[in-house]
Amino acid sequence: MKRRSFAVLLVGIVCALTVQGQGAGQPAAPPESHGMGRSMSHGAPIKVMILDGQSGGAYHNWRLTTPVLRKELEDTGLFEVTVVTAPASDQDFSGFEPNLGHYKAIVMNYDAPDWPAEMRARFEKYVSDGGGLVIVHATDNAFPNWPAFNEMAGIGGWRNRDEKAGPYWYIRDGRLVSDPTPGTAGMHGNRLPYQVTTRAAEHPIMKGLPPVWMHTADELYGKLRGPGKNMTVLATAHSDLQNKGTGHEEPMLMVVRYGKGRIFHTVMGHDVYALSCVGFTTTFQRGTEWVATGVVTQKVPANFPTAKSVSYRVDIAEMDPDMLKGASDPIRPEEKHVVATPHATAAH
Ligand code: ZN
Repeated sequence: MKRRSFAVLLVGIVCALTVQGQGAGQPAAPPESHGMGRSMSHGAPIKVMILDGQSGGAYHNWRLTTPVLRKELEDTGLFEVTVVTAPASDQDFSGFEPNLGHYKAIVMNYDAPDWPAEMRARFEKYVSDGGGLVIVHATDNAFPNWPAFNEMAGIGGWRNRDEKAGPYWYIRDGRLVSDPTPGTAGMHGNRLPYQVTTRAAEHPIMKGLPPVWMHTADELYGKLRGPGKNMTVLATAHSDLQNKGTGHEEPMLMVVRYGKGRIFHTVMGHDVYALSCVGFTTTFQRGTEWVATGVVTQKVPANFPTAKSVSYRVDIAEMDPDMLKGASDPIRPEEKHVVATPHATAAH
């Protein structure tokens, strides 16, 4: 356990250094880095809305995860982020009229069963007219009966989806295939770290990323169904039969075209710890830039995970107040008293 704490501490130091180097408000990058990183971003910030307000259960705590997504976008120095919280789907939407056209991209950290017809129509128009959309994790559980949304997501799961939602999509022998066999949609095994494999190395979101990298412990979504129309799978992960999986290469990152709109869909990011993965963060930051502008100007960070090692940001993982629950050694000296209290011992 001591070793684990030391490792966490080490990662913390590495991450703190990295964060310091990438933080907002840094002076402009030197001229030699022009053409690659933040130095391209001297223009106006890209206006992004994060939409939240509902989830399928307390296990998807949007009140905790939205600030994480916001921080990850703001850390790039590229985005001006506004959080918009929608009413719950059974509440009154008459006063809810966010100006969608004001934003270059909408990031959905949101899972509701349905929306009023007028809200659906405004949203469809926003994307088909060229608005960017980012779908994070259980957002692809939302709106099982809204065909346009399912087309934007490409694939989704749960909320009673079955073969009527579309076939099951996965990668076999390097090619995207669909299986129309009837059945449920959406499953995952225990949360473990898993390898992510790049499938579209030349796509701007993926360019420069390693062919294989290790994601921190997260749900590995599998057996997702949908129309799969205009969908390109950027990365997959193997759903292990020994962890209640499908035995197939499941889509992890996708892009979809809907009218003039670009969509980036990441199925990763169950909780704050999963979101703290440098692999998640990097693809999320790049995916949001790409849907908003069609290009990616961000560098791949030096602490990007490798094929064998996870890499996560402790400053982000600590945004979950329960992150240190269960740690048997004090990670920081000032926390010694917390671990020593009878309450903390009982919580183990
Ligand atoms: Zn989840």
